[in-house]
Amino acid sequence: MMQLHCLVLFSLCYGALAMPRPQNNGVISSTDQDFAEEYLKKFYTSNARDRTSMTEKLEMMQRFFRMKVTGKLDKDTMNIMKAPRCGMPDVAEFTTFQGRPRWQKTSITYRILNYTPDLPSSVVDDSIQKALNVWSQVTPLRFTKVNSGDADILIQFRARTHGDSNPFDGQSGVLAHAYAPGNGIGGDAHFDEDERWTNTRAGFNLFLVAAHEFGHSLGLGHSDDRRALMFPTYQSVEVNNFRLSQDDINGIQSLYGRRRK
Ligand SMILES: [Zn+2]
Ligand SMILES: [Zn+2]
Repeated sequence: MMQLHCLVLFSLCYGALAMPRPQNNGVISSTDQDFAEEYLKKFYTSNARDRTSMTEKLEMMQRFFRMKVTGKLDKDTMNIMKAPRCGMPDVAEFTTFQGRPRWQKTSITYRILNYTPDLPSSVVDDSIQKALNVWSQVTPLRFTKVNSGDADILIQFRARTHGDSNPFDGQSGVLAHAYAPGNGIGGDAHFDEDERWTNTRAGFNLFLVAAHEFGHSLGLGHSDDRRALMFPTYQSVEVNNFRLSQDDINGIQSLYGRRRK
């Protein structure tokens, strides 16, 4: 994905855009300050030519999360930045996936390349299948698991650097990421092996995170609707009661239409 490469390029000229240090240094530690700058750089940079200042990025972030837009780093903002979340950016240029890429077919294949040791493989299979069902229930899309060769959606559990210029960050922080529909890495979903994956409300529920990531694999960006599956931070819910929000349904049906009767 170009956008991900661009984040790296952008960091070269990043020094000039450092956020003004707040007067009251007693409230936000310099470690948190650095964390916040990294966060904004990572999730609120649209492309290599992005020249928005750190303060503007902070305002974008506060607007996205429907907080009071102050452009100042306070405790509430810090708490949201530290919440476990998806690794995809929140800026509109990226989240709408420019050009609206989507699969030009309704029959989509997926392959699980490796398994997390956190769960029995049958539970991983089941969680992934349920996560795809979330989307096939409301669209004409059908998903078929393959066990060898190429597939549209390749699924992996990997830690730290894993060959796609978008390394994972150890425990918590970024949990997973996925690529918009397309050839090669397009559609693929990567899960951070440094997380503890579960099928309960402890740790991170693989079904819930996978359902969100597959939204990206199918062409959806992030939503700023807190009830949406496509909201960027992890929200633990009772899996048996899980339902897509109307916002998610509107989004996916704008790409693929409704399920045929
Ligand atoms: Zn996401
Ligand atoms: Zn990756």
